[in-house]
Amino acid sequence: MALPDLTDGFHLVVDALKLNGLDTIYGVAGIPITDLARLAQAEGIRYFGFRHEQSAGHAASIAGYLTQKPGVCLTVSGPGFLNGLVALANATTNCFPMILISGSSDRAIVDLQQGDYEEIDQLNAAKPFAKAAFRVNNPEDIGVGVARAIRAAVSGRPGGVYLDLTAKVLGSTIDVETARHSLIKVVDPAPSQPPSPQSVRRALDLLKTAKRPLIILGKGAAYAQADQDIRTFIETTGIPFLPMSMAKGILPDTHPLSAAAARSFAIGQADVVMLIGARLNWLLSHGKSPLWSESTQYVQIDISAAEMDSNRPIAAPVVGDIKSSMAAFLESLEPNAIQPSYEWLEGITQKKQKNIEKMAVRLNADPNPMNFSSALRAIRDVLSNRPDVYVVNEGANTLDFARNIIDMSEPRRRLDTGTWGIMGIGMGYAIAASAESGQPVVAIEGDSAFGFDGMELETICRYHLPVVTVVFNNGGIYRGDPEGSPPSPTGLLATARYDKIIEAFGGRGYHVSDTASLSRSLYEALESGEPTLINCVIDPTAGTESGHIQGLNPKSGLTK
Ligand code: ADP
Ligand code: MG
Repeated sequence: MALPDLTDGFHLVVDALKLNGLDTIYGVAGIPITDLARLAQAEGIRYFGFRHEQSAGHAASIAGYLTQKPGVCLTVSGPGFLNGLVALANATTNCFPMILISGSSDRAIVDLQQGDYEEIDQLNAAKPFAKAAFRVNNPEDIGVGVARAIRAAVSGRPGGVYLDLTAKVLGSTIDVETARHSLIKVVDPAPSQPPSPQSVRRALDLLKTAKRPLIILGKGAAYAQADQDIRTFIETTGIPFLPMSMAKGILPDTHPLSAAAARSFAIGQADVVMLIGARLNWLLSHGKSPLWSESTQYVQIDISAAEMDSNRPIAAPVVGDIKSSMAAFLESLEPNAIQPSYEWLEGITQKKQKNIEKMAVRLNADPNPMNFSSALRAIRDVLSNRPDVYVVNEGANTLDFARNIIDMSEPRRRLDTGTWGIMGIGMGYAIAASAESGQPVVAIEGDSAFGFDGMELETICRYHLPVVTVVFNNGGIYRGDPEGSPPSPTGLLATARYDKIIEAFGGRGYHVSDTASLSRSLYEALESGEPTLINCVIDPTAGTESGHIQGLNPKSGLTK
């Protein structure tokens, strides 16, 4: 009798990913997944090899945010898996769909704690940080494991999913016929979840009573890709809007209804606030005073019912996906039913004008050395002609200033530290943004933030990606140390030539200390499409401790 044709776990994983359109893997190779990475690449999956799993994981998560398909990160067992966990947790926190696939050691040895190579109970370690976690123990279950991981990652509120593949499963053989029947092509992985008609009516009724309505757009709104309906709703009702940082560009920042330059005024005075894919978390001061008024009423559109009332009572919860919800709002909207008062719109416009004039003074100054404002104005002017460019942004002051100064005109083009305020996302996000879109990326990085993942410059150069990294070099976390003093806890080398690092990998380095050179180098870099790093020297005294969130530092009860 002829033996049946055999396949193995490696092939089945690749087949399952391909069958479901997961065509890109971000990872770091090693035991026991090296052959999986090789096979995936040989079978036409794009493979991006990183220098650290955390960056690969961040890349996968932002790929998920940009594409609505789970981004896939592949790591080795034990420490490689643990390195990927920060990214998995960050994805879950930010509602980005990703799947962390890690190889793992021998179950029997791990469970008896007999000391295997890279021994750790990965499944249980991952659980608190993941939306869901699965382990595949039999090769014939690989199809189910991948299908469940995909559904868990993208359905409902998206998040990070852990998929544990034991070395044994990867190497196990199984006959081709059984294998073929075991694979699952997931049908409708993120089913639409239209809101109930009553909830939409309740929300519209509340908005009708409003004199000072305000819409807050969060990254959930950006993720949902409902750009046109959101814009139509805002423009038809004339309600001013405030974008959270990653929601910038759903409507252009220069839109007349943007209240961004009058943020505190708008939040403080609004009588009805409509949250669209934004949580009332610390980034919105939990909806509490002194920023917010006690009497503000809320409409909240969110896919997660449990999000409602998490910080403030929500008078009109709308539970559903934002795409279906916005369509329902437009359908039920009666002409002129919602009327923001003239005083409200005028008040915001005047406040905006005042703040913009105040900011213009800082932006137009050209001090030597450069400070955050002057350097970012130079970058802003170059980017204003390049709406195609993705902007990645992290740091403390570098983040705060850039968020306010760099206008966005296209949705999902600004990628930043998100819900956690995490550092070390920069290079991973930049690599994935470029890989997924084919567009150029400018990563605006604090010198401290850049240090977490700077070695990924080699990855950028190896794949020849059009990523321009601008390091705001002020010689420290927040700010630099006084010259000649020993390093403080926040000090970094002010004389560091970050531009030389990329030169070591064959990329282009620039060292600039004035705005004219900064503009020229950024312009040249974008024209060339070459991997570039601009070491942008700014005043070491320019930064403030913890940037705009200084108040989050605990104060000693001893100081009066
Ligand atoms: P931001 O930080 O920009 O304010 P958050 O991450 O706090 O945004 O909020 C995003 C919200 O969007 C989350 O509560 C999440 O449940 C929700 N969300 C994500 N995707 C969708 C979607 N497709 N439809 C509806 N809500 C969504
Ligand atoms: Mg710094």
